[in-house]
Amino acid sequence: MTGTDETALVLFSGGQDSTVCLAWALARFSRVETIGFAYGQRHAVELDVRPRVREKIAALDPVWAERLGEDHMVPLDGLAAISETALTRETAIEISTDGLPTTFVPGRNLVFLAFAGALAYRRGARHLVAGMCETDYSGYPDCRDDTIKAMQLALNLGMARRFVLHTPLMWIDKAATFALAEQLGGQPFVDVLLEDTHTCYVGDRSVRHPWGYGCGTCPACRLRADGFERWMSSR
Ligand code: ZN
Repeated sequence: MTGTDETALVLFSGGQDSTVCLAWALARFSRVETIGFAYGQRHAVELDVRPRVREKIAALDPVWAERLGEDHMVPLDGLAAISETALTRETAIEISTDGLPTTFVPGRNLVFLAFAGALAYRRGARHLVAGMCETDYSGYPDCRDDTIKAMQLALNLGMARRFVLHTPLMWIDKAATFALAEQLGGQPFVDVLLEDTHTCYVGDRSVRHPWGYGCGTCPACRLRADGFERWMSSR
C-alpha cells in the first residue's frame, strides 16, 4: 500500500482498538509515531504490552517497520489524582447513579487529545489517529463523534494548525473491527491482536480465550468476546 507523505500520531494504549488504529495509520502514512498515557490505571498491563505490540507489528511488514517511528509515554498523574473511577481505584465496575459506568474517567479523551495535539505540533505531525467508537461504546460522552470534531476545531484554533483527527473505528462495531484488522494485516495481524493486545478492565491475563486474554466477564471482555464470535460466524 502507498502512503501519503505525512506524519501521523496514534493514540496507542496497547488495547485492541488502538492497535487496529496503529495498523490503519501504518497502511496510510509514511511516518507513524505513537503516544501513550500513564494516568494511574489500576492495572498497568496495557502499558506493559505496548512495546511488545509495537515490535510484533513492525515484524509483520517491512514497510510498516520502516514507517513506525518513536513512541512517546506521557505521565498524567494529575488525572488520576482528581479521578475516582473503577479504572484508577479499587471501585466495583458497575453503572453509577448518573447512568455512566464507574470506569468513566471524566474528560479523559479531551485531556489525551490536548496532549496529543501539543506533541503533534512539536513533531510536525498533521494527523491524529484515535480509537474512539460511538457504535458499541460504554456510553462515554468523550467517545462521541461530535466530541472529537469539537476537539479538532479547538486544537486547530488554539494551535493555529490544520490537524486532522481520524477515528477509523467510530462507526463500526467490534466484529467489523476484527474484519478491518484482517483486511489490514491478514491473519498474522489478527493473531497479534488476540495474543498480545490487552483490553480487560481488571487486568487479567491468566486465561487465553479464543478471543484473547481477559477475565471474560468485565464489559470490555464481553464486548471483545461477542465481537470475535460474530466476526468468526460471519466469515
Ligand atoms: Zn475482563
